[in-house]
Amino acid sequence: MIPYGRQNICEEDIQAVVDTLRSDFLTQGPQVPKFEQSIAAYCGARYAVAASNATACLHIACLALGVEQGDHVWTSPISFVASSNCALYCKADVDFVDVEPNTGLMCTEALRKKLQWAEQQNCLPKVVIPVHLTGQSCNMEEIAKLANQYDFNVIEDASHAIGATYQKAPVGNCQYSDICIFSFHPVKIITTGEGGIATTNDKTLAQKLALFRSHGITKDADKMLQNDQGSWYYEQQDLGFNYRLTDMQAVLGSSQLKRLDSFVQQRNLLATRYKERLKDLPVTCIEVQPNAMSSYHLFIILLNDPAKRMDVFEHMRQQGIGVNVHYIPIYWQPYYRSLGFKKGYCENAEQFYQAIITLPLYPDLTHAEQDQVIDTLKACL
Ligand SMILES: *Cc1c(COP(=O)(O)O)cnc(C)c1O
Repeated sequence: MIPYGRQNICEEDIQAVVDTLRSDFLTQGPQVPKFEQSIAAYCGARYAVAASNATACLHIACLALGVEQGDHVWTSPISFVASSNCALYCKADVDFVDVEPNTGLMCTEALRKKLQWAEQQNCLPKVVIPVHLTGQSCNMEEIAKLANQYDFNVIEDASHAIGATYQKAPVGNCQYSDICIFSFHPVKIITTGEGGIATTNDKTLAQKLALFRSHGITKDADKMLQNDQGSWYYEQQDLGFNYRLTDMQAVLGSSQLKRLDSFVQQRNLLATRYKERLKDLPVTCIEVQPNAMSSYHLFIILLNDPAKRMDVFEHMRQQGIGVNVHYIPIYWQPYYRSLGFKKGYCENAEQFYQAIITLPLYPDLTHAEQDQVIDTLKACL
């Protein structure tokens, strides 16, 4: 089976992990802050806080922004469930903003209209979480303008988008957001096995993220609320979690980061090759906006005839092509249905979902394998 995504692990990665296993620190030691500083520098953000996965990062990002019961959090329905579950962990209400039909990205016009409606209903969101689907940034400049106008915070779910750029600057610099989240799951652009990171330019937010990542405990004497104990004293100031990344994972991340640009370049070359070779087929590829460079986590195509999707998908799987579908609208899930969401809620998202197939794309995909994918698709259509 040619999978839809696959990690690239080299000898240097393995050696880095082995060396760390022989060091004094296994969990959060010197490698975690090293990795955090490298990611912050790469993205051009002041701070980065690593955690056990991107889902945990989304959770502590919501907590750091003060999301609680009675608050509203909006995200895109075309995403992994983690993008909205994070708000439910905080007992907030979740709602979905429809997407653009051709990119699957949160539609800023739909967002504007929903905000106008919410203002009248007195239920404006506290946080909006745009998702950089496939590795292409949403229209962040426009979202930031709306955030200013309607006074909400923005968390970028950039799980797909490390190494991507927007307006020629790295995604993750938080120019238009409060916090940006990356995932290091093995199918993503770089991996730590499990892992995620949150970048921000706000010192207070960075401190809160670090606190929530580790039980709500600080060991920093300057930050203690009461300090009448000895130097053994640590202080729990809030209800946090054990969401720490290990040093083995962090060192793997630092080692992978050295190849990030080459991974993204290779993904872009393969994406261009797909686009050229699929030109004459009855499918539409997702266009990348001129002000963006995608990291191409996923290569999603839309079938011009969505009625064929089921057959094409099953046939390709039978032929050993690990196609996938990203994503089923989140609110179609039974859990979300039980919260009151109904089919038909976001029209564009549902049309998008019904037409899409994700083709294999990862740095080590060979041209021969890619041709096999293309030929199989041609035969199906
Ligand atoms: C992968 C992914 C997540 C969750 O990442 P984990 O690191 O597996 O927790 C969240 N959002 C999106 C859009 C993702 O693709």
